[in-house]
Amino acid sequence: MTEVTSTPRKNLLGMPKAKLEAFFAEIGEKPFRAKQVMQWIHQYGVSDFDEMTNISKSLRTKLKEICEITPPEVTYQNISADGTRKWVMRMPGGSSIETVLIPEGNRGTLCVSSQIGCALDCSFCSTGKQGFNRNLSTEEIVGQIFNAIASFEGIDRNKERPVTNVVFMGMGEPLLNFDNVMDAVNLMMDDLAYGISKRRLTVSTAGVVPAIDKMSEVTDASIAISLHAPNDELRNELVPVNKKYPIDVLMTSVKNYLSGLPDKRKATIEYTLLAGVNDRKEHAQQLIEVLKGLPCKINLIPFNPFPHSGYKKPSNNEVRRFQEWLTEGGYITTVRTTRGDDIDAACGQLVGRVDDRTKRSERYINMRQVNE
Ligand code: SAH
Repeated sequence: MTEVTSTPRKNLLGMPKAKLEAFFAEIGEKPFRAKQVMQWIHQYGVSDFDEMTNISKSLRTKLKEICEITPPEVTYQNISADGTRKWVMRMPGGSSIETVLIPEGNRGTLCVSSQIGCALDCSFCSTGKQGFNRNLSTEEIVGQIFNAIASFEGIDRNKERPVTNVVFMGMGEPLLNFDNVMDAVNLMMDDLAYGISKRRLTVSTAGVVPAIDKMSEVTDASIAISLHAPNDELRNELVPVNKKYPIDVLMTSVKNYLSGLPDKRKATIEYTLLAGVNDRKEHAQQLIEVLKGLPCKINLIPFNPFPHSGYKKPSNNEVRRFQEWLTEGGYITTVRTTRGDDIDAACGQLVGRVDDRTKRSERYINMRQVNE
C-alpha cells in the first residue's frame, strides 16, 4: 500500500512578487498568473481561489491543492471612541500580537508588529517587559494589513483606502527580523499589492546599526529612530542596545541611509518624554547638537504609563516647553497625540500575550512583587 504524505500547503499571503513568480514558474505557470493572484489577494482581499474569476478552473483546482491564503486569526477587535481600531491576532504557538489603525482625516495609519514580544528591553516600554517569543513570518506581518482592511466590510476598494500609511511601531524590533520585515515592506509597497508609497511606510528602529546599513540594499522606505536620549550615558539606561551601537555611530548610519535614497527625505526622531528623566532644557540643548547635520523631524511621545514602570508622564506644559526649545533650535517638532488609549492602543501599551522564552517577564513580575 502506498502512503500519501501531505506536504503543508504554501501560504501565498506573504510572498513578494519575485518569490511568487518563482513559485509559479516552479509549478509550470506563467509569471502573469502570479501577478493576477497577487491582485486578488492584496487588492481585493480574496482568500478563496474559487473567487479568482480570471483564472482557469484547472489552475484554481491546482492552487487549492498546494496553496492557501491564510491570515492570522483575529481573536479580538475593538473600536475606540476616536475611531482607532485595535486587533489582537493569535499566532500559531499560542502567543498574540497587536495591530492598531489610526484614522486621521483622509489618512489611515496602520501600526504593525514585527515580533512576538521584543528582545531589546527598553526601560520604559511595556512590550519589552513581556519578554520575547519569536519573529513573525512575512505572512504574519502582511496578514495584519490584510485583516485590517478586511474589517471594513463592504467598502469599494477602488474608491476607499482605509490604510494609506504603515508604521512598524507595534510590538518588536523590526530590524532584528530583517528578512521577513523587508519582504513585508516590499509587498506593502508593491502596486500590485497595497501600493503604500515609500514616504508613507516607515520602519522604526531602536538603532540596530548593521541592519540600517543593509536596508538601503533592499528598500527605500522611510525610517524612524527611537532615540529617547541625547547622550550615551542616559541612552544606555533607557535603550540598552545603545551600548552596542552608540549615538554617533547610529547618527552616521542614518545619514548614510538618507543620502542613499533617490529623493530628499527626513528621518523621524522619536523621543518619549519621561518626566524628570530626559525632558530638561539641557536635554533639549544636547539633542539639538546631536542631530546637527541629520535631515530629520522630531516626534515627541509623552510617556504612556503602565503599572510599576517607575516613570511618569510630563505635564502638558512641560511637553509644550520641550517642544518649544526644539522648535527654537530649528527642528520641526510634533507631539504625538495619544490615540486609542481607552482601548489600550497607545504607544508602549501593545502587549499582546507573549509566551516568553526569555526569563525577562518573570524577572519583571518578581521585581514588581518586591517593590509592592
Ligand atoms: N522597536 C522599534 C519599534 C517600536 S516603536 C523601535 O524601538 O523603534 C514603538 C515606539 O513607542 C518606540 O519609539 C518606543 O520607544 C515608544 N514607546 C515604547 N513604550 C512607550 C511608552 N510607554 N510610552 C511612550 N512611548 C513608548
